[in-house]
Amino acid sequence: METKQNYGILDNFRVAAALLVIAIHTSPLMSFSVDADFFLTRILARIAVPFFLMVTGQFVMSDYLFNKKGRNCSSKKLWSYIKKTAIFYGISIAIYIPVGIYAGHYKDMTGAAVVRELLFDGTFYHLWYFPACIMGVLLVYLMSTFMSLQSIMILSGVLYVIGLFGDSYYGLIKNVPVISGIYEFGFQIFSYTRNGIFFAPVFLVLGAMISRKEAPKKNAVYGGLVLSFLLITAEAFTLRYFDLQRHDSMYIALIPVMIFLYEILLQGKKRSSAFLRNLTTWIYILHPIMIIVVRGVGKALHLTVILVDNSLIHYIAVTGLSVLAALLITYFNGRRRSRPGGNDPSRDRAWIEIDRNALKKNVEALRKELPAQCRLMPAIKADAYGHGADLIARELNQMGVDAFCVACVAEGVRLRRKGIKGEILVLGYTHPDQFYLLYHYHLRQTVIDFSYALKLNSYGKKLHVHIGIDTGMHRLGERSENIDLICKMYQMKNLKIDGLFTHLCAADSFEEKKQEFTNFQADEFYRVIHELEKRGYPVPKLHLQSSYGVLNYPELTEDYARVGIALYGVLSTQEDTEEWKDSLEPVLALKARVASVRDLYVGETAGYGMQFTADRHMKIAALTIGYADGYPRSLSNGVGVVLINGCAASVIGRICMDQTIVDVSGIPGVKSGDVAVLIGRSGEMEISVCDLAVKAGTITNEILSRMGTRLERVVV
Ligand SMILES: *Cc1c(COP(=O)(O)O)cnc(C)c1O
Repeated sequence: METKQNYGILDNFRVAAALLVIAIHTSPLMSFSVDADFFLTRILARIAVPFFLMVTGQFVMSDYLFNKKGRNCSSKKLWSYIKKTAIFYGISIAIYIPVGIYAGHYKDMTGAAVVRELLFDGTFYHLWYFPACIMGVLLVYLMSTFMSLQSIMILSGVLYVIGLFGDSYYGLIKNVPVISGIYEFGFQIFSYTRNGIFFAPVFLVLGAMISRKEAPKKNAVYGGLVLSFLLITAEAFTLRYFDLQRHDSMYIALIPVMIFLYEILLQGKKRSSAFLRNLTTWIYILHPIMIIVVRGVGKALHLTVILVDNSLIHYIAVTGLSVLAALLITYFNGRRRSRPGGNDPSRDRAWIEIDRNALKKNVEALRKELPAQCRLMPAIKADAYGHGADLIARELNQMGVDAFCVACVAEGVRLRRKGIKGEILVLGYTHPDQFYLLYHYHLRQTVIDFSYALKLNSYGKKLHVHIGIDTGMHRLGERSENIDLICKMYQMKNLKIDGLFTHLCAADSFEEKKQEFTNFQADEFYRVIHELEKRGYPVPKLHLQSSYGVLNYPELTEDYARVGIALYGVLSTQEDTEEWKDSLEPVLALKARVASVRDLYVGETAGYGMQFTADRHMKIAALTIGYADGYPRSLSNGVGVVLINGCAASVIGRICMDQTIVDVSGIPGVKSGDVAVLIGRSGEMEISVCDLAVKAGTITNEILSRMGTRLERVVV
């Protein structure tokens, strides 16, 4: 799943950009200083629209630009964006036509002028933005169907340069024969070159590109922004000084300014907000009306001197009213939309719901079991035990968790690419050809034995590692008795030893034999530590506990606790889960939909292999989930049960790859589209992942970690 979860900074900045647009149209500082106002409205505020375009580039255009020629890629996203924009444009036109008529705007308009208004100028002075968006995305999309990314970049750059000479640099060509003629001809078709052809494409492409590339060094980006901003300021004042500007939207330095600014905005992580996105659109659409309203009110109340003549108060009044009106519209829109049947967070066929509060509760419960100096290092391997690694890591980051462990390097890289901060330890083997990924993404690697330490060391660059000590599980780690070899690792100059750990393999049981073994493992571990200390080697960060270690052996607490299953609110078995149910709460629910309900008459069979035969007239339902989604096939033939409308329905016949048939005879009113709960609560009833594990003859860990990749994960 790839939703716009983590782009809250962009959403916040949209609001700032909208307020800058209002500034362009009200000149807040005009009463005080013409130069200051020029700086604010003709330079600073000029970042607003390119910013909006870059966001569109990132979310709408990148698929077309980066999937080997756009034609291989469904144009659904493009059309849905165009439709949405066209609707906003249509609404705006409807709002502003009366205003335009009142202002005498449309007197004596020719047919050509109408077309120009609709396609380029936008029928009211701020509405040019909507047709520019539509035209820009269409143009870039068209390019993507037959041009390489490089050619698209060049062409959109060339278009921008052409645009410059019709805008800020117009004075340079104004008196050049032929060329000025061409521009004059152009201006019959569009009033400005700041439009969907010459202005929008370059920012659409840049937005898409920047969002796809590695984040560069922070300081460099901030430096770049400051420098390019100085440049644009110098550029604009110079152009004004020589009176070259026909219009003042397009500058050369605007390009680097936007690149650096966007880099910076992408580095912050914050939950996205559809509310803010809608809010800004409405601020943008409505603010010219509010300018008229403020003028009208000023006149009526004889307050023109204050409300209009003082440019700053004027700006504040217009902004206040615009925001208020936009808030009202957005709020009522949201309410209307969320009313009927809006409780399912997903429209997918089958999905996982992540209970954020449960996760938080578990984090707090586990922290309570640990002393303050011990940090959680949650295991978010195997897609966070099926819960969705990006999503879980992001939530944990926000709860202040800053260390994670994963099974393999690819899992670590993926988290980094999603912007996850903090330490990430790779617990398993990484092929030497992939050591560069460890280095590049700042991942810590487990030293799985002495010979592997040699390989890590010969990579040539410093790698951060945790040494695994095998104290009896005999899976990974250097054997605890080989203290000399462990010491040798300290002498390897490319290993930066950050940690030392072991893994307990029987801490889940208090059976005497297992308890003894766990104590033996701990003793072995501490023997290694003491030996290192004795020989004068520094002791790095230590850790031994996983979930059961934390719960059953609290005395073994060190610097980290590698909690996995407990964090997700269950333990491996039903009995253990039962024992800790007051502190831990399940995080995951698994849901699907009823696809189809039908009769099954006596003697008829259902499903593959005719495994089920009706002995009475039944109602059965096909659910949109199967074993490929992680619902175990061993629950076929009446073993599994699901919940629909608070009632239980048994699985009948064999579970298929993508569907499951259940008996809904006893449940009144079941219909296509209803939600079926496979794990979680429905009405008074609940099915736990433990129930599934017991019936499938396995542990919860396996059920969870095999949840299908095609399930959408949503946070509730
Ligand atoms: C998976 C794993 C963990 C987490 O185990 P849980 O029992 O799920 O808490 C901890 N340490 C290592 C080495 C692991 O492989």
